[in-house]
This record gives sequence, C-alpha cells and structure tokens, in this order.
Amino acid sequence: MAEIQLKSLAHSYSKNPSGPEDYAIRQMSHVWHNGGAYALLGPSGCGKSTMLNIISGLLQPSEGEVLFDNVKVNELSPKDRNIAQVFQFPVVYDSMTVFDNLAFPLRNAGMPKARINAKVEEIAAILELDNVLHNKAKNLTADEKQKVSMGRGLVRDDVSAILFDEPLTVIDPQLKWRLRRKLKQIHEQFNITMVYVTHDQLEASTFADKIAVMYDGQIVQFGTPRELFENPNHTFVGYFIGSPGMNLIPVQRTETGVEFDNIPLIIHPDLLRHIDASTSSNIKIGIRPEFVYLSNTPSDDTYECQVNYIEDLGTYQIVALELGSRSLLARIDEDQMIEGDTVYIGFPRQWLKLYIDEFLVEGVAE
Ligand code: ADP
Ligand code: MG
Repeated sequence: MAEIQLKSLAHSYSKNPSGPEDYAIRQMSHVWHNGGAYALLGPSGCGKSTMLNIISGLLQPSEGEVLFDNVKVNELSPKDRNIAQVFQFPVVYDSMTVFDNLAFPLRNAGMPKARINAKVEEIAAILELDNVLHNKAKNLTADEKQKVSMGRGLVRDDVSAILFDEPLTVIDPQLKWRLRRKLKQIHEQFNITMVYVTHDQLEASTFADKIAVMYDGQIVQFGTPRELFENPNHTFVGYFIGSPGMNLIPVQRTETGVEFDNIPLIIHPDLLRHIDASTSSNIKIGIRPEFVYLSNTPSDDTYECQVNYIEDLGTYQIVALELGSRSLLARIDEDQMIEGDTVYIGFPRQWLKLYIDEFLVEGVAE
C-alpha cells in the first residue's frame, strides 16, 4: 500500500506542445493518500485514463514526478510499481480457466500454492464467480469476463494501489450496482488505496469517500461528495455535480454591487473586494437549484420571476424560471405549491457563490 503523489505533473501526447491546449494533463500536483477509496470523475477526454496510465507506469509523463511513499518511481516499469490496473474492457487469458486467470498474478508473485487456492476462492466468492471457476474464460459472458478481469486486480492484497478505469462500462445496470458494493466491501476489508475512474457522479459518490473532479486536464476540486455539492470550487463542478446542476449567471460589477439585465444583486462586501482586486471580466454568480428560495409572496431581497414550467419528479419538483433574460431552475419539495405564473425568488447568502475566471471566490465568514 502506498501514498501516491503527483508533483508538478503535466503530459502532452504531442512532441512539441505549443500551448496549454496541447496538454492532456495540465500542470498539477495531487496526493492520493494511503488506504483511501477515491473516485476520479470527469467527462470523456478530460485526461482520466492518461493520469491512471502515468501512475501505473504505462505512460511516461512529459513533465513532473510520480512518487510512491515519497520515493520517485518515474523510472520504474509498470511491473516494478506493484500496481493493479483494471481497464474498461476485460483483459483475460481466453485459453485459461477462471481459476488460472485469477491465480496468475499470485503465481507470478511466487505465492505458495495453498495461499493461492485460498485467495482465489475468496475473491471468486466475492465476485460470484465460484460456479464458473473451472470453466475456460473464452466461454464466459462479457459480464463474467469483466469480473475475472477485476478479480485479477483484486486478488493481490500486497499491491501499492488498485486503479480502475471505468471498469463497469460493459456490465449490465443491475450487476453494476452489486459490483460497486462489492468493491467498496473489498476496500473496507483490505484497505488498499483505490482510484476509481468514472464519468458518472452517482457511481463516484457511492464508491468513494473523496472525489477528484477533473476538467480539461486538471483536478479542479478534491473533496467529499458533500463538499462538491455545497461548495463547488469551480463552475464545472457546480454544473457537473447535482441534478440538475448549478445555476450560473454572468454578472457585471456596478458601483454598489453586481447586476445582470439591470437586476441588482446583493453581494457580500468581502466578495466585492475580490472582484475589485481582479482585472477579469469573467464574473459569475452560482446557486444550486436546491438553494433557490421560492415564495408566492414578495419579501425583502426577493425578485419577481416568471414561471415557465414545473416538472413533477415525484419526490420533488423542478421549477423553470425566468429572471430578466436568464433561465433558472429551482428544486422544491413535492408538497410546495406554486400559484400562478409569477413567483418571488431569493438567493440565501450562504448559498450564493461567486466565481471569477470560473474559480470560486472563497471567504465569507457568516
Ligand atoms: P479520458 O480517459 O478522461 O476520457 P484520456 O486521458 O483518454 O481522457 O484523453 C485525454 C486527452 O488526450 C484527449 O484529448 C485524448 O484525445 C488525448 N489522447 C489520449 N490518448 C492519446 C494518445 N495515445 N495519443 C494522442 N492523444 C491522446
Ligand atoms: Mg478514459
């Protein structure tokens, strides 16, 4: 087991990168702590597989260092890094039985036969592969093959870390849910550092204690599911996490605060100071649909809004609103009644976030 540190890491697939857009990983530093269950979450093409391959040694980074327990491993081959990696599509030896596939990494590591048998049986039972243990891998279904592939990563409890690269893509939804539970169970049992790559926020938050959200070659936030929800560090996190994502509205500085479409917004003076200190004109406010205050009657600090439509989703409702020329979504309880097509909305101060150049401006003590 190991702590994995990425230090000033950057990677470009191009030999002569001319700018940041030529980098699959833009310069970043990050630590995966020993024994953690982590998810690396981000859209397709943001650099997730590139990062995993750099950790496992399949890929040499163009800049920066990879350290395991403070020891630089850049020069070590994948084999010597002692990492198990499970890929999106199954990697199994078709001509071998399931048992031999699972035993393979253990035999390679020189483990005694009795322990190999015990270990293979343990993992086969967890993955519900016991009844096909002596079948040839080539006769398995796609699901079973992927379970074997995962099993090969999981049998060794001496590895520094296990990296999963969207391993459940080919698995049917019902089984997916069960396998995710099993992975978590295995993590709790063996406490191995696990990094689980996915583009699915639900998958990330059911597996991981902490999620690294990756966007455009960088980790833009590393936090618990709750931190990502309550305090998105980047507009992308706001937009990508949550259902629906955060409302984001470009605003302009005025003499007394900010505004959009001539609608003045009250912003904490601390935040205004940040705007004044910045030369950027890329300023946005963000508020999650869950935190938009909604009432049939006006009060202080509310804005009159048009109701475009209401979508009833059983346990909650999504209200589509129009404030000025902007569309906003609010998420309210199933039993809150909206009367007519005008409502009054407010932005509770603690939930109104300010973003300059897409990054959160921190620092309002309540
Ligand atoms: P993800 O796993 O998040 O979908 P990748 O790490 O596979 O993202 O890819 C990140 C970026 O690097 C993408 O723009 C992709 O097109 C590019 N890329 C990935 N692999 C290669 C490669 N072997 N050669 C050139 N470009 C690549
Ligand atoms: Mg990938």
